[in-house]
Amino acid sequence: MRRILIANRGEIARRIIRTARRMGIETVAVYSDADAGAPHVREATLAVGIGPAPAAESYLKIDTIIQAAAKTGADAIHPGYGFLSENAQFAQACHDNGLIFIGPPPSAIRAMGLKDGAKKIMKQAGVPVVPGYQGEDQSLDRLERSARAIGYPILIKAVAGGGGKGMRRIDDGSEFADALIAAKREAGRAFGNDSVLLEKYLTKPRHVEVQVFADAHGNVVHLFERDCSLQRRHQKVVEEAPAPGLPEALRQAMGEAAVKAAQAIGYVGAGTVEFIVDVSEGIDRAPFYFMEMNTRLQVEHPVTEFITGYDLVEWQIRVARGEALPAAQADIGINGHAVEVRLYAEDAEGGFLPSTGRLDKLELPQRTGVRVDSGVEQGSEISIHYDPMIAKLIAHGSTRQVAIDRLIAALDETIAEGPKTNRAFLARLIGHQAFRLGDIDTGFIERHLADLKPVNDLPDRLLALAALAATTPRQAPTGTSPWEALGSWRLNLPHQQSVDFYFEGGAKRSLTLTRGEDGAVTVTGIDEELVASPAWRSAHQFEADFGGSLARATVLLDGPAMELRTAGQTFRLNLREASLDKGEAVPRDGRIKAPMPGKVLSVFVKPGQSVQVGDRLLVLEAMKMEHRLTAPAAGTIRAVHVGDGDQVADGGVLVEIEMEAG
Ligand code: ADP
Repeated sequence: MRRILIANRGEIARRIIRTARRMGIETVAVYSDADAGAPHVREATLAVGIGPAPAAESYLKIDTIIQAAAKTGADAIHPGYGFLSENAQFAQACHDNGLIFIGPPPSAIRAMGLKDGAKKIMKQAGVPVVPGYQGEDQSLDRLERSARAIGYPILIKAVAGGGGKGMRRIDDGSEFADALIAAKREAGRAFGNDSVLLEKYLTKPRHVEVQVFADAHGNVVHLFERDCSLQRRHQKVVEEAPAPGLPEALRQAMGEAAVKAAQAIGYVGAGTVEFIVDVSEGIDRAPFYFMEMNTRLQVEHPVTEFITGYDLVEWQIRVARGEALPAAQADIGINGHAVEVRLYAEDAEGGFLPSTGRLDKLELPQRTGVRVDSGVEQGSEISIHYDPMIAKLIAHGSTRQVAIDRLIAALDETIAEGPKTNRAFLARLIGHQAFRLGDIDTGFIERHLADLKPVNDLPDRLLALAALAATTPRQAPTGTSPWEALGSWRLNLPHQQSVDFYFEGGAKRSLTLTRGEDGAVTVTGIDEELVASPAWRSAHQFEADFGGSLARATVLLDGPAMELRTAGQTFRLNLREASLDKGEAVPRDGRIKAPMPGKVLSVFVKPGQSVQVGDRLLVLEAMKMEHRLTAPAAGTIRAVHVGDGDQVADGGVLVEIEMEAG
């Protein structure tokens, strides 16, 4: 293999380029018009434009990509994840054109492509599957009878589903018919296939998946498991390896079942067998069931790389070259623990809506034991066309706690400005006591949502730290020796300064800082007087020694606004009295605006209709997700400005409500 074309973009394209380069293999990047200036394009040996921004017109065009490979003399194609990575037709087209597809044989992709077929194969192979119905008869009558036989609650899944789409939980039979129609409609629209399957809905499951690898010589191994139970809307938010608290016997049984699954379909390359573990009765004797197999490299593969020490992309390339697996099962072990979070451009505090725009500032952390995989850089545009992931932050440590602490520190240091991000939310999430204890299941985020909100009242010591940061100059004057400069610089500072912090709701705290001859500062205006020696360690890293106990924080100043982050908590402070009219929850004029550009899928209200708080108004599709807009207050619909299928701009007025007084 001499030159690999990467049929992907962003962080995964860069990640593949890194390994290929280390192995002395050249790379070809492909890019849409929106990505012409992207880092992956610069880093590859060669690059080819493949069309307009929408993925359907570029990254998903099989012919164009095959042509790009022919034109650039590539002899292999790596599909990354997403896009064409699990497209059997694409894998076949590669083979037909004499290109090596770095992935499994098309037959294996096809076998696992639909959830129903996959479950049938696994059942036959003796791999446990979730009890349910995966038959061809899709009539309401048949499905309803099966649901009753399985027993509520049940889950409807689109057989062609992915990314948590087209899934619906039903708690009792009376909802069945309506839910089925809705699920089928959604599945048909999203996947062009409206077939569904039914599964017993597990009320307290953990998502544990096993990384498998097979070569073309009949060897199959597993590289242990990843726990991806922390999810929102059935989408992974945090991934870790190994699964916390998993009994050794269960680990072994799952590893063996995963290997069996791979063997059953003649698998070659990297794959992931996803299991759901029913922990409602504890994990010790928990049953586990096959959910699906992903026939590609996964987003969260770095946690496995960290604990096993192997480069999975290197394995993929070697297997595709026809080599035997680089390691035997007995050689593969677990070293320490790794945790990954996905930093997304999304408004975690505002209902997790995706956020777009230019990344005005991007500083990603560099620390021991932390790996950062990112596809963007400062100045990049987070567009509506692709997944809004900014970076994956992955930390490794000798223990789970060490890994978590490292990841929290890394998140505290991460600076991403422009679009809103989930950074602060992620830090609170992995810092949550229950997560630290490993008390996790797929309901974790929803159950703890109230604890995951930003905290606003600062302990006195942090308020003092904030006041110190506001009054400590960032740099000593240069020119003379550092000590002299520091001495005179300190002497030139005002002896006494006061700092006022303004809080929402009109509260104000005034602190007074008195500087001593030795540079120590006495802070008053808080419950207990504190004495500290403050210093900036770098542009955003501030610390203060409070009599032998060191407090550290990332401090960002933007005019009168200060953001202080420490130990995974983010505090926003105001140094000036501000009119706090930013983004009201209830628009006073009753005009409901589009929170982002998108397409109106359905409108539920008509002028003259009265609505209650929370009533649905319309569904907007934006960034590949459906967002339901509801009435923020009770009232009467005054006007509806959009209809089904309309394209709307960010901030466009959709519906107007005449709100009831009070
Ligand atoms: P998708 O392919 O759309 O991602 P999956 O079948 O992989 O769908 O399931 C995604 C997530 O949905 C799982 O990780 C789990 O949290 C939840 N889930 C799936 N099946 C069940 C089930 N039978 N009971 C409870 N939760 C489930």
